[in-house]
Amino acid sequence: MNAISEQGLKAPAVKLLINGQFVESKTTEWREVINPATQEVLARVPFATQDEINQAVAAAKEAFKTWRKTPIGARARIFLKYQELIRANMKELAALLTAEQGKTLPDAEGDVFRGLEVVEHAASVGNLQLGELANNVANGVDTYTLLQPLGVCAGITPFNFPAMIPLWMFPMAIATGNTFVLKPSEQDPMVTMRLCELALEAGIPAGVLNVIHGGEMAVNAICDHPDIKAVSFVGSTKVGTHVYNRASLAGKRVQCMMGAKNHAIVLPDANKEQTLNAIAGASFGAAGQRCMALPVVVLVGEAQKWLPELVEKAKTLKVSAGTEQGADLGPVISCSALSRIEGLIERGVADGAKLELDGRKPNVPGFEKGNFVGPTIFSGVKPGMAIYDQEIFGPVLCVVEAATLEEAIEFINANPNGNGTAIFTQSGAAAHKFQEDIDVGQVGINVPIPVPVPLFSFSGSRASKLGDLGPYGKQVILFYTQTKTVTARWFDDQSTGGLNTTISLK
Ligand code: NAD
Repeated sequence: MNAISEQGLKAPAVKLLINGQFVESKTTEWREVINPATQEVLARVPFATQDEINQAVAAAKEAFKTWRKTPIGARARIFLKYQELIRANMKELAALLTAEQGKTLPDAEGDVFRGLEVVEHAASVGNLQLGELANNVANGVDTYTLLQPLGVCAGITPFNFPAMIPLWMFPMAIATGNTFVLKPSEQDPMVTMRLCELALEAGIPAGVLNVIHGGEMAVNAICDHPDIKAVSFVGSTKVGTHVYNRASLAGKRVQCMMGAKNHAIVLPDANKEQTLNAIAGASFGAAGQRCMALPVVVLVGEAQKWLPELVEKAKTLKVSAGTEQGADLGPVISCSALSRIEGLIERGVADGAKLELDGRKPNVPGFEKGNFVGPTIFSGVKPGMAIYDQEIFGPVLCVVEAATLEEAIEFINANPNGNGTAIFTQSGAAAHKFQEDIDVGQVGINVPIPVPVPLFSFSGSRASKLGDLGPYGKQVILFYTQTKTVTARWFDDQSTGGLNTTISLK
């Protein structure tokens, strides 16, 4: 954990949210929230104590008793109000997000907006939480299902989408009748807290949404707590695998959306200009800190000749603070992330890849202290090189060559990750083969970042995901509910009995 500086001691404390109250933690462990473009300390975030974590879970458990009985329509109306409040505060939310996370203001609005779409969907969750009924499964017998909420659910979120990912979680969990304990990223919790304030303003009752802060200890406490029934995690593969194993062992439902190394295939029949623009945006935008970024491009056949143009395009991108007009990519989240990325670039060179564009130490006037690294491109990249084997999570693109589409598909399927992928082509047959044969959760056809809208669920396969059901969308209804089947028999002569009862009551 970072030591707290003089400036940090004076910075405002991020609050916990327990039973409807924003309270200051009694912990002695704090960490600074730092603007990655300037190193200004914006706030200090507490690492909640075990006692505070227990209080948050206890509040959620108590609130569940009444929240689970709240009619679907009443729950839905809160989310209708919530989406309105998020819209009304969009600019403020985006500014807060840019200050603590670094991404450009338009990207920050996109982050909030993609979460807002899930809130809108949560407002219509009644349509999805319907049971099924089979009439007359035996003489006088019907069987039907109830999709009942589980109880206290928890969410653990990463730094790179501090608005969207918390909004993937608590709105759907709460709309389906659960109560929630959220543990945001300790690196940028401020916009998440503002979103929680707005959720309370929209009418979410005390105890239904709670927030604790912290790192490893808080996450382990969530995994182990006997009153938490389900855990949704988004973050790295290493931590997600640990959470999946630990929380499953404690008998919880768990879903973990994890790390990525997404590849795009470029076929020579693709529209060159659109493809190169799409790749530059998806590889370097948000400084590469997206789980759906495109850090590997496989150029097939003649498309290999496009590399110099891709390099030229990447050179035109403007690296600056997210608040600056025209900035295409902002800083990476922390000084340690910056040195890890720079170290990997160094290893790429040492491993024999060709550094086509070196983005290290860019000149960013006015923001000399920022954690900046510009677009970087390697060609001749091979499995076994650290820049290929590791998730860099920075604006670094690895270019690989393949002779055929089949070879490119085989190459992607041999990578352990399966989060997202894309193909660029004008051939329907090639696109169809790709969608059928690729073992990746989210497939784009001439779409570089194919994140599904909330009518569907976010997905992922192999090392990128553990658990069967995705966050948000249709699948998450099953994740956040227990299916109960009811088999009921009513005898015809009992209807007369009912009549008799009425008579006897007179
Ligand atoms: P991270 O795994 O370091 O942190 C995620 C959460 O786990 C945070 O809340 C953090 O406090 C907690 N944590 C960190 N170290 C821990 C430990 N040792 N034990 C227990 N908990 C711990 O991830 P990050 O760096 O914040 O986010 C980037 C990662 O998230 C990337 O790997 C990215 O691909 C992934 N990601 C995946 C998706 C997806 O949907 N698949 C979406 C966004 C980000």
